[in-house]
Amino acid sequence: MSSRKRSPHDFIFKEELGHGSYSTVYKAIDKRNTKRIFAIKVCSKAHIIKESKVKYVTIEKNTLNLLAKAHHPGIVKLYYTFHDEENLYYVLDYLPGGELLSLLHKMKTFSEVWSKHFTVQLVDTLEFIHSQGVIHRDLKPENVLLDRDGKLMITDFGAAYTTTAGNNDANKSSSSFVGTAEYVSPELLLHNQCSFSSDVWALGCMIFQFVTGSPPFRGENELKTFEKIVALDYPWSSTNIHNNKFLNNINPLIINLVRKILVLEPKDRLSLKKIKQDPWFATVNWNDRNTIWKGIWQ
Ligand code: ATP
Repeated sequence: MSSRKRSPHDFIFKEELGHGSYSTVYKAIDKRNTKRIFAIKVCSKAHIIKESKVKYVTIEKNTLNLLAKAHHPGIVKLYYTFHDEENLYYVLDYLPGGELLSLLHKMKTFSEVWSKHFTVQLVDTLEFIHSQGVIHRDLKPENVLLDRDGKLMITDFGAAYTTTAGNNDANKSSSSFVGTAEYVSPELLLHNQCSFSSDVWALGCMIFQFVTGSPPFRGENELKTFEKIVALDYPWSSTNIHNNKFLNNINPLIINLVRKILVLEPKDRLSLKKIKQDPWFATVNWNDRNTIWKGIWQ
């Protein structure tokens, strides 16, 4: 962080990169060093208050500040925050590769090589996030951005939960519905509880989506999606797997891994540690940071 408080006047605002429910994100150039490009998330104060989003904005800022201390390659870094009369500004890493979901839509499905590449980076990043006491709670392909080489970064920490001193038991943290219907865990739907393992559930949904093109649980509406989640009704479940026409093209190791992650009871779900030891990752050296964090295209 800079010693002098920065302001919007320190940046040249370029094109809009996208917008969310309470923010617009712009590409911006640092006037002091024109080679430095950032993404600046601009949140209208009036809009945040009107839409009761103060809590989310505060959580996002605090979580990004906490995670920025350790410089993990898989987390979008927050460099500066400032505000003026109208807006709050978050100066972030600029990720020119866009959302992982857009890439998946373009490609329809990812090859096994790409699916493994993204999963390895997600596992490594999730392990780091959890080691800092943070549960993301809204992990999904829209919240994963790509740099120009195809390395990923997890973003959007507005729904995150941080275990605080005296409240270390994230396994029992109660929680109202946060997140996105297709990736929400059964324990949140059934018991209003979230845990580190709830992020692992979302990871399992994403691996399924990488290789098939769609999330495992999708109904005509949110309620139908929730019903499918709590019934574990998805194409690779033990009751459905026999009449699934897509199975032939998919490595059984991937199917087995997903089936061990998409388990209703969080304590029976694979942990990240166990996921790293799964046969699908037999060729991955988890200690070789350079290989894990290489790009997939140059
Ligand atoms: P919501 O807040 O409703 O969940 P969101 O998280 O997508 O939506 P933003 O964080 O404001 O909202 O991001 C809006 C869009 O801006 C994203 O979908 C993405 O395409 C783009 N974007 C966000 N952050 C960056 C970044 N660091 N680099 C490049 N583009 C970004």
